[in-house]
Amino acid sequence: MTGFESALPETPGEPPLFLRTREPGEASDRSDHSYPPLPEALVVPVYDNHTHLEIANGSEPDGGGSLDYHEQLDRASAVGVRGVVQVGTDLETSRWSAEQAAREPRMLAAVALHPNEAPVYAEAGGLDDALAEIFELAGWPRVRAVGETGLDFYRTTTDEARATQYRSFEAHIEIAKENGLALQIHDRDAHAEVIATLKRVGAPERTVFHCFSGDAELAEICTENGWYMSFAGNVTFKNANNLREALSVAPRALIMVETDAPYLTPMPFRGRPNAPYLIPHTLRAMAAHLGTDVSMLAAQISSNTELVYGSWSDEPVTAS
Ligand SMILES: [Zn+2]
Ligand SMILES: [Zn+2]
Repeated sequence: MTGFESALPETPGEPPLFLRTREPGEASDRSDHSYPPLPEALVVPVYDNHTHLEIANGSEPDGGGSLDYHEQLDRASAVGVRGVVQVGTDLETSRWSAEQAAREPRMLAAVALHPNEAPVYAEAGGLDDALAEIFELAGWPRVRAVGETGLDFYRTTTDEARATQYRSFEAHIEIAKENGLALQIHDRDAHAEVIATLKRVGAPERTVFHCFSGDAELAEICTENGWYMSFAGNVTFKNANNLREALSVAPRALIMVETDAPYLTPMPFRGRPNAPYLIPHTLRAMAAHLGTDVSMLAAQISSNTELVYGSWSDEPVTAS
């Protein structure tokens, strides 16, 4: 199942799964599926280094509130989110990401087969061809990362499918290194295995744990290896003390911020659709937890993000 399909309502009129969860005690209205209001603009801008704009593009369920990706980027610009890394999860979304980034100055792209998609390609006998196309897309000028790739032992449970995940992850690591690109890792219930794979194969110079889901111990391992930790909206959730402890021990030079939109909408809007313009909530919660100034943290994160992916403006975009 692709992320897109999993975001669709199971039956017409019902909200998609990602809109159905909420924090215990959270005051959000389960019937409200509209996009949250614009937050107060950031003084110092940041980037959303992991988002899936194509999922929100047309799947927002309230009928009147669907935002296409241009509107999402306009809202982001209005609140100080100056650019995004648009992330592919299969061939179709990786192509789309590379194509849109080629003509949208606020977008860079990441291309990959998601760890839960790799077994689907393998079953159809098309994994090698698909990896070859990811390699080709990785050469496009505004494709700056290979991802999201990695291991997902939560949704992929059979030995055979996990063996395919390993093969795909290792191939993506090589694609990143051969193209001099950053690597965006999806690690779900597989911390030790992800670390062992990175060490065995050799991690790319710029390696990012997207939607960092570990504790302080994993943050220390990332720190020792110079791997980046990108925090998503779940760092604001009440039950996420482990993530906040990780944030506390992570060096500021290795921290980034993302939405993973349309999932993981930050508090106080958990349960409603997510989009890059909601990054300020996550950033402000991170700054509050760290006891630091929002603008100082934003400046640090912007600089980290440009070190990892390069500048959003140094490759000309073609006219759309
Ligand atoms: Zn992921
Ligand atoms: Zn993602």
